[in-house]
Amino acid sequence: MSTTKEPKLNFNSAWDLAPAPEDTKHISLKKQYDLFINGEFVKPNSKKYFATYNPATEEKIADVAEADEKDVDKAVKAARSAFGKWSKLTGKERGKYIYRIARLMQERAREFAVIETMDGGKSIRESRDIDVPLAANHFFYYAGWADKLEYAFPNKNPKPLGIAGQIIPWNFPLLMAAWKIAPALAAGNTVVLKPAETTPLTALKLAELIRDSGLPNGVVNIITGAGKTGAAIVNHPDINKIAFTGSTDVGKLIQRSVSGTDKKLTLELGGKAANIIFDDAPLDQAVEGIINGIFFNQGHVCCAGSRLFVQESVADLVIRKLKDRMQTLRVGDPMDKNTDIGAINSKEQLGKINDYIKIGKDEGAEMYQSTCVIPKKGYFCRPTIFLNATQSHRIVQEEIFGPVLTIQTFRTIEEVIEKANNIPYGLSAGVWTDKGSKIFNLTTKLKAGVIWANTYNKFDPTSPFGGYKESGFGREGGLHGLSAYLDM
Ligand code: ADP
Repeated sequence: MSTTKEPKLNFNSAWDLAPAPEDTKHISLKKQYDLFINGEFVKPNSKKYFATYNPATEEKIADVAEADEKDVDKAVKAARSAFGKWSKLTGKERGKYIYRIARLMQERAREFAVIETMDGGKSIRESRDIDVPLAANHFFYYAGWADKLEYAFPNKNPKPLGIAGQIIPWNFPLLMAAWKIAPALAAGNTVVLKPAETTPLTALKLAELIRDSGLPNGVVNIITGAGKTGAAIVNHPDINKIAFTGSTDVGKLIQRSVSGTDKKLTLELGGKAANIIFDDAPLDQAVEGIINGIFFNQGHVCCAGSRLFVQESVADLVIRKLKDRMQTLRVGDPMDKNTDIGAINSKEQLGKINDYIKIGKDEGAEMYQSTCVIPKKGYFCRPTIFLNATQSHRIVQEEIFGPVLTIQTFRTIEEVIEKANNIPYGLSAGVWTDKGSKIFNLTTKLKAGVIWANTYNKFDPTSPFGGYKESGFGREGGLHGLSAYLDM
């Protein structure tokens, strides 16, 4: 009889399983990372590598391979050859592999969380409590569907599409990889995935995990590079589906490249969500919702509640409470458990945010920032709000993707619906009120894919996520997310 203790699996608390002490000593990072193709790490044809940095310290962490067209082709060939076998496995067998990935992710949760924070700048509390457990839960959820496709879509004879080319952004690197890979595998597809160039390390750790999990070679290929590599995936003729999460500009480029081909496409793009506070809302809770809505993950969130609408009669009170709460936020070392707002993901992104802060001031909105001390080294930004913002301001219309909130007031429900919808985006919205009837009224009239009521930024693998208008099309999560990887 084996004396080895089985780790206790707790679905909700991946962190409890993690064995290592809370520092970076036990994190195994290599100095150089190659491409994960056909179950092994291989050197790039280009022989080129690029550096990935810790945005909180500006120090280099590792060099990462840059895949060129030949590397993309190699990954697609591996995925094609694997598709033959993978798509013929029973759903039950596929499910077992996906469950195994989920379990291994729980076991390695601490390592994933620490690397995510080092490479991307988000606070360790968020990587630990949100990103990693949610990523594992995504694999668990879709593993459960793998042998139930016929029940999920009765009389539709669902079939996998083939090879999914998946391109993800830098704000939730591991979680976005899970959102993309888990449903694709459950549906019987094989994958070529590219993480963003500033945050490749957790996807590469996931590649190691996938190799260790015994998933058949070539079912998941993870290749690194920047826009050119992404474009090579989009343009590869043997890819059947492109799933992209990123900026609206790149999304439009991809849509143009894919038009005229028979590739299926889903796009999850930018956002500029309205977070609406009515005078009958529980105001202290609403203030927490405003804080979470805009400052979670440094505001690097496509569904961030970046436009606050407060009913005029409570505006002074809400703004006073908001400013007081902003003063308590700790900005700094993302590896510190007490940090609320970590580092901005890159120098380039910090530059963009600072440009918008200047634009806001020049446009005449009134800026308020908390007075916290921020580290001298690394890329940091104080939590920022703009009072007296108007619909025509660029800071109201354009996505900033940082800890910057615009504030407008309103009197009537009709006025706030019109203002909330008067924007090119339509990804998400928040409503705070005591009245269920008001919530239902707004959910039917706000043009947003996801609407939270009396909460904000809540994610769950069972619920679909996606947008309208310039926020893209297609849904991820739930059965909608699964159907996006099926031909039926
Ligand atoms: P962000 O503005 O958030 O950096 P991007 O849309 O530029 O968002 O990047 C999201 C992902 O898209 C990244 O993985 C990036 O490398 C990739 N990417 C950038 N340009 C292209 C392109 N022309 N074709 C395909 N992928 C691209």
